[in-house]
Amino acid sequence: MKILVINAGSSSIKYQLFDMTDNKVLCKGLCERIGIEGSAFKHKVPGQDDYKIEVPMKNHEEAIRLVINTLVSKDHGVISSMSEIGAVGHRVLHGGEKFSGSVLIDQKVIAAIEECCELGPLHNPHNLTGIRACAEIMGDIPQVAVFDTGFHQTMPDYAYMYAIPYEYYEKYKIRRYGFHGTSHRYVSGRAAEILGRDPKDLKIVTCHLGNGSSISAIKGGKCFDTTMGVTPLEGIMMGTRCGSIDPAIIPLLMEKEHMSAKDIDTMMNKKSGMLGVSQRTSDNRDIEEGVKAGDKRCQLVENMLFHQLTKYVGGFAAAMGGLDAVVFTGGIGENSPRIRSFVGHKLEFMGCRVDDEKNNCRGKEVDFATPDSKIRLLVIPTEEELTIAKDTYEIVTALNK
Ligand code: ADP
Repeated sequence: MKILVINAGSSSIKYQLFDMTDNKVLCKGLCERIGIEGSAFKHKVPGQDDYKIEVPMKNHEEAIRLVINTLVSKDHGVISSMSEIGAVGHRVLHGGEKFSGSVLIDQKVIAAIEECCELGPLHNPHNLTGIRACAEIMGDIPQVAVFDTGFHQTMPDYAYMYAIPYEYYEKYKIRRYGFHGTSHRYVSGRAAEILGRDPKDLKIVTCHLGNGSSISAIKGGKCFDTTMGVTPLEGIMMGTRCGSIDPAIIPLLMEKEHMSAKDIDTMMNKKSGMLGVSQRTSDNRDIEEGVKAGDKRCQLVENMLFHQLTKYVGGFAAAMGGLDAVVFTGGIGENSPRIRSFVGHKLEFMGCRVDDEKNNCRGKEVDFATPDSKIRLLVIPTEEELTIAKDTYEIVTALNK
């Protein structure tokens, strides 16, 4: 069966087509600036040159139509007709408390995703647009929703509640949800496979570090705690997001700088993090270059990032009552030996031992702890799209049984 995975954002759609007989990517691509002047389309078939065009895409439906037409086209296609696609899997940001796993999409599910728009206003409406556009173009093809929040629904109440009046949880469902769930689920499962251990016996901290970053405590194969909250803003500092700050900063700045709630939201999401402190860049590669060149602000950003990461890893280890492995994934986690080495060496007081030679690698699976280390240190490239495809395949094949 072939499965199309769709990640629909406000003005972009990312897609990948998988052949589930061998889990291979047949092609992937990106529609950018949908509904904006200068829309662009990029399509990649492994082993071939990228196909890039500028073509107007007025809305998500037009974009998905272009994707399908390309998938079946003579020059750039990989399938002969749309009917070869057995199902579509969608990345959906927020499932609130309604979804703890992936589900087949029907009208009830659509209504429930709609209800979660209040919690994920920047993503859920666009995820729904993607689902509706696929239904419009591909008729009654089975569609599956895979939620970023799903894996974290196992957190105990004392990990997901905020210490604000309980009524706000009851009225607005304000609590910790957590994100990057598909990635944390995949890498923690893969870690157990690599270590040849039953996930039930393991206490793992998974560090998904990219433009957006989150860290999770996985105890017995289930999420026990995570750093992101109601929205993907809380936790460790990120490319442009501030992460956790003293909440009293918000009213203080609103008063001093005459900022509105919207201004504050933009500042915290788009102008903070590595960009805000360095005043130069949100990109970790540039920060690492800056550190090498002796730039003090880049050094400060790196010190802050390393310090925060170590606090979360150590804090989660204490909260779980032990630590068997730390997993690094995401653009930074997979590609930055510096950050991995720092965390590994900081954990020496717990019996962790780093093999810095093994750690000197990028973008591939490796266990860079020495054989006698009490804690394993793993790099595992994340596979979010393949995980979505696998969930979709499982749900759809169960339907046909
Ligand atoms: P997103 O959260 O948007 O999916 P990614 O997971 O692709 O982002 O991560 C992007 C981050 O990874 C950027 O900060 C980038 O600098 C960092 N990164 C990518 N390659 C390297 C590298 N070779 N060394 C250090 N950092 C890297």
